[in-house]
Amino acid sequence: MKRERLAILGASGSIGASTLDVVSRHPERFEVVALAAQRRWNVLLEACRKFRPRWAVLGEASAAAALREALRREGIATEVEEGEAALAEIARHPEVDTVVAAIVGAAGLPPTWAAVCAGKKILLANKEALVLAGGLFMEAVDRHGVRLLPLDSEHNAIFQALPTDYDRNRPDDFGVRRIILTASGGPFRERSLETFAAITPQEACAHPNWSMGRKISVDSATMMNKGLEVIEAHWLFGLPPERIEVVIHPQSVVHSLVEYRDGSLLAQLGTPDMRTPIAHALGFPQRLEAGVRPLDLVRVGRLDFAAPDLRRFPCLRLAYDALEAGGSVPAVLNAANEVAVAAFLQGRLGFDRIPAVIEATLERLPRQEPDSLEDVLAYDRLARERAQDVLAQEVA
Ligand code: NAD
Ligand code: MG
Repeated sequence: MKRERLAILGASGSIGASTLDVVSRHPERFEVVALAAQRRWNVLLEACRKFRPRWAVLGEASAAAALREALRREGIATEVEEGEAALAEIARHPEVDTVVAAIVGAAGLPPTWAAVCAGKKILLANKEALVLAGGLFMEAVDRHGVRLLPLDSEHNAIFQALPTDYDRNRPDDFGVRRIILTASGGPFRERSLETFAAITPQEACAHPNWSMGRKISVDSATMMNKGLEVIEAHWLFGLPPERIEVVIHPQSVVHSLVEYRDGSLLAQLGTPDMRTPIAHALGFPQRLEAGVRPLDLVRVGRLDFAAPDLRRFPCLRLAYDALEAGGSVPAVLNAANEVAVAAFLQGRLGFDRIPAVIEATLERLPRQEPDSLEDVLAYDRLARERAQDVLAQEVA
């Protein structure tokens, strides 16, 4: 059998590492032909030693130069490219079958879009791409006959709980009433609200159940992550906001559920480890060994569920409203969130002010209807500028 040729975008990150771990267990099945990251060239060097890809792409030129030199010294033939254009080039290269889209933030949209337009199979972790460009993105997926498999654990769970021939344009034909996204509630589910201003980046990044990159960890702590996932679920599964519910489930064992017309709830359960959804998507429709510890139900003992507290987590409400508004609004939400989270991580903005910055940015930009990827990227840029203005006032 010919091996499936993978390009892994965001290879130095948390999803990148889990993907390489699963891939390394199946050398007969996968060939890593390209690895891409922004700056951490030493992480790519390690992966180049192990997987010998044909290309490595780095966003930053100085990092690319350092990797090039290190590979040359070790006699590794991987070619090093740099910059955004090279990233898109790799994503649509004829020698790539499958693209793992695991760059964080809006930066992941252009290369993922390039992969869609080239008809690649796509394993999607970069939820921001769908938040920014959902409608256009899914149209392009259909137009180019793309196989799109979700890596986000909730969406992967829902995918697994839906019939294999499910069509997002006709959810009612499949008896789907609602989908229910579970959320751990993050590290501050029970912390007193009065102390939210004092939350440090280190506290926000210490997620109780998952180990993830810093941006998504903060998003989990504000629950913006769940809000982005509601929008992601809308585009992937074709249900309106009122048929997508969020339930707090602190154990992170039930990864999400589908409710059917007849009253059935189908869930996917497992140890919280991203290698499970990654292995599922890599192997689909077959099941691959993922190196994940089996879930011991007796040790878990109990599963708790509760409604989310929107006073504690206003970002979740902002995301639902943005989905309802549609057009450019989710892109503005995403951009403002990225700016606010970066400022929080730099110690320039209080944790409790993240939703305020997003809301003020949303108020400054009227809703527009994007017709193209260029439109979406322009709204993204504009929203970042506005969010920086809001931030400047906020910290003044
Ligand atoms: P991370 O911060 O650990 O890794 C991010 C990766 O993106 C790195 O390889 C980095 O080099 C690359 N990157 C960042 N900016 C870039 C740019 N401008 N150009 C090129 N590459 C760039 O993040 P992560 O936790 O692995 O998350 C990646 C994506 O997957 C996010 O969209 C996140 O929401 C999603 N996701 C992550 C998890 C998880 O468990 N970590 C779960 C579900 C979804
Ligand atoms: Mg998730």
